Amino acid sequence: MGNYHILVVEDENDVNHLLASILEPYAVTSAYSGTEARLLLSQNDYDLILLDLMLPGMTGEELIAWMRTEGKTMPVIVLSAKQELTDRVNVLRLGADDYIMKPFEIDEVIARVEAVLRRCKGQQLNVKTESEGGEKSLVIGDLVLNHDQRTVHVKNKPVTLTVREFEILELLMTYPKKVFTRENLFTAIWGEDYFGEDNTVNVHISNLRAKLAKAAPGAEYIKTVWGIGFKMNL
Ligand code: CA
Repeated sequence: MGNYHILVVEDENDVNHLLASILEPYAVTSAYSGTEARLLLSQNDYDLILLDLMLPGMTGEELIAWMRTEGKTMPVIVLSAKQELTDRVNVLRLGADDYIMKPFEIDEVIARVEAVLRRCKGQQLNVKTESEGGEKSLVIGDLVLNHDQRTVHVKNKPVTLTVREFEILELLMTYPKKVFTRENLFTAIWGEDYFGEDNTVNVHISNLRAKLAKAAPGAEYIKTVWGIGFKMNL
């Protein structure tokens, strides 16, 4: 367990020290503000982040948003006294992996940390980036996407995708643990502001799913996360 390095971001000294002490089997670094955490994250790699939301300098929500735009995909467990469902849904939408309510039980924190680390370790094994002749492929199970050749294969069968469908699949496969909202996808792929009513993303996702399902009947590659969005089915 000592191989894992956890960053604890919490501005209350006592709580920070308590978390660091209960996570002693791991290597732990403490940060006391959002800006300190951002600095540490830009310099080091961590396996997991335990993150308070109400922080001086930069809020937890802002830190998650910054991490995801920087392509930092390590798991984040939010620890917060914010009780509202909308706050919880909001941080999960931003890309947090779990949410623990304050005041917390020590055993619960340990159990969730273990569960998230286990899950993410498994996923790292599922997704590999293969290099053949200098070309990069994303591989998840029997789904293979080659960026340079712009090809997708399912069970060794070629699947012909439109440019947008390819871009959506590549984004999902690049961050397989992340749940993308319709807004995330629209903004990333179309590069335009998103208007909630728009059905564009749904239509592209369902076309993409239909093409993958035609090549591999019964297999589900893209999962709907109810009320939030889409992610790869790992
Ligand atoms: Ca706080």
